[in-house]
Amino acid sequence: MPISKARKVELVLSDLGRRYLGADPLAPDSTALARITAETEDPFKVLIGTILSQRTRDEMTEVASRQLFARYSTPRALARADVRDVQRRIKPVGFYRQKARKLREVSRVLLDRHGGKVPSTYEELIELPQVGPKTANCVLVYGYGLQALPIDTHCHRIPNRLGLIRTKTPEETEKALARIVPREYWVNVNEWFVRFGKEVCKPIGPRCGECGFTSFCAYYRERGKG
Ligand code: SF4
Repeated sequence: MPISKARKVELVLSDLGRRYLGADPLAPDSTALARITAETEDPFKVLIGTILSQRTRDEMTEVASRQLFARYSTPRALARADVRDVQRRIKPVGFYRQKARKLREVSRVLLDRHGGKVPSTYEELIELPQVGPKTANCVLVYGYGLQALPIDTHCHRIPNRLGLIRTKTPEETEKALARIVPREYWVNVNEWFVRFGKEVCKPIGPRCGECGFTSFCAYYRERGKG
């Protein structure tokens, strides 16, 4: 008998939960954002780390974040920073010149409009420079522990491969996942899919032999890769 979509979602979430729930966020196989969150518990650093992570590999995000926060760890400090020094510190990430200017700008807006604090609502976050839906949702989840669905490349690819959703853009994915993932899991979904995407369901050459979802994964069935 075919498995229902709800049952597939349940199987995926419980398997990922067994793998990653309670995993050490400071372990080497963790993600840059989980580490920043665990080490600092600072929504400002989560916001800046997420902006740095845009179109950048996780490892480079972490290097750049550490170099940046060693000197500029508050909106006030970053708002006054020498942009060339910021560029030098964040050079490992993509578009570092543009991002250096935007980091200063976002820090200034935080000071001018939010009293130096990072807002905790989607509506306010999305108004900040260089902040789109994924970054806003990352701040809500990692910075404030609120239920939101940040959709990055892993969160978009994996549920589509599994056949849980059929979407073309991250925006569609966010809406589709919101319909099928129980709300209590939202705070975990990004971290779990990112880790699973780095370790098992890689963008190229997924390790299907190490995956427990081959019995219903659409990608595996269609391509028979492993
Ligand atoms: S079976 Fe392969 S393609 Fe499907 S989710 Fe697992 S690793 Fe990814």
